[in-house]
Amino acid sequence: MTPSDSPGGGPGRELYELVAELFPICRSITGDGVRQTLGIIGRRVGLDVHEVPTGTQVLDWTVPREWNLRDAWVKDPTGRRVIDFHASNLHVVSYSVPVRATVPLAELKRHLFTLPEHPDWVPYRTSYYAEGWGFCASQRLADSLPDGEYEVCVDSTLADGHLTWGEYLVRGRSEEEVLVSCHLCHPSLANDNLSGITVATRLAELLGQGAPRRYSYRFLFIPGTIGSITWLALHQQQVGRIKHGLVLACVGDAGSLTYKRSRRGNADIDRAITHVLARSGRAHRVVEFEPYGYDERQFCSPGFDLPVGSLSRTPYAQYPEYHTSADDLDFVRPESLEDTLEVCWETLGLLEANRSYLNLRPMGEPQLGRRGLYGSIGGRSDAEQRQMAMLWILNQSDGHHSLLDIAERSNLPFALIAETATTLEHAGLLAASG
Ligand SMILES: [Zn+2]
Repeated sequence: MTPSDSPGGGPGRELYELVAELFPICRSITGDGVRQTLGIIGRRVGLDVHEVPTGTQVLDWTVPREWNLRDAWVKDPTGRRVIDFHASNLHVVSYSVPVRATVPLAELKRHLFTLPEHPDWVPYRTSYYAEGWGFCASQRLADSLPDGEYEVCVDSTLADGHLTWGEYLVRGRSEEEVLVSCHLCHPSLANDNLSGITVATRLAELLGQGAPRRYSYRFLFIPGTIGSITWLALHQQQVGRIKHGLVLACVGDAGSLTYKRSRRGNADIDRAITHVLARSGRAHRVVEFEPYGYDERQFCSPGFDLPVGSLSRTPYAQYPEYHTSADDLDFVRPESLEDTLEVCWETLGLLEANRSYLNLRPMGEPQLGRRGLYGSIGGRSDAEQRQMAMLWILNQSDGHHSLLDIAERSNLPFALIAETATTLEHAGLLAASG
């Protein structure tokens, strides 16, 4: 990848606008909200939309019934809508079964979820695999409800249908793949789901432009857990092509970046992103794998053990706004989305450029001055670093050490190592070996 491919030019605003466009849609793990979301992404990249019917066995799971919601509300004893799905789709517990009833306040409260510690926020709740219905509201609203009879309505359907996901493959020169995955199963939550979708969409757009890259890039826009399990179940024979992978989630808040390593712990993706973050001067954290989080749980289950790490800013459940109405359009920032995009882009660029070389003059050091290689660096302020880069590359290029190995061992920036390797290749001292 060359700097002209760089996403620069302030794309943060554009990323944020996609978050805002997707925000109002009522998504769940199945249903029309997923299709509508894929329709919007599909206007930017040529998505393939796939559907698998309810009841399909996928690994140890079964594709659930499809859920769609038209309306939902609670009317107080005077007939006023005190909770209204049209004000916020978080007001309904996802996967609520249809209900139309008149209930006393005490019974309504058994179906009402609040956050006492944040009395103005509405929680996000789901009930995918246990049949029931419920509403979510602010504690302040719940406290204000007078005694009496309440009319409740959930106008939903929970019926045989499909699980839907979107896939976009950018074919490269090789069939070896880089996987980028994000979940799209949450309703109006901006950081948790929309930020990842947005950064993944932009990466897909950028990679789809220009000449084919070395790797093929596969983007998955899938419902969390059941989506990745379904995809893995259907592609068990092909997952060996995945050489590197990244799950993007919660990448738009103001916090600094957090990278969670793959189960392998030292896969190239782990090393590449660690190198990029460490060299960038950004505040960041690199944490070890744990079997909790997003779809890396499935990609890194022991039967697959794919080299897939996970990039977030403030991780899963570690911010109070997580899974509440406060994860809104104010919580996500254009500059954070842009910053995440830049780190992803640089990391993918590193993986594209990372290869092994063979020193064609391995007996003793080749005479660099005679080949004009000292001359070519004379006067440059980083001349000393460039000379060290040459010596390291020539010394380590026995066909077994990649440029990333050399960058790590020499403690020099990967970009310098890669650029210097090209110079040495042009001088006839190196040949690519892998
Ligand atoms: Zn979530």
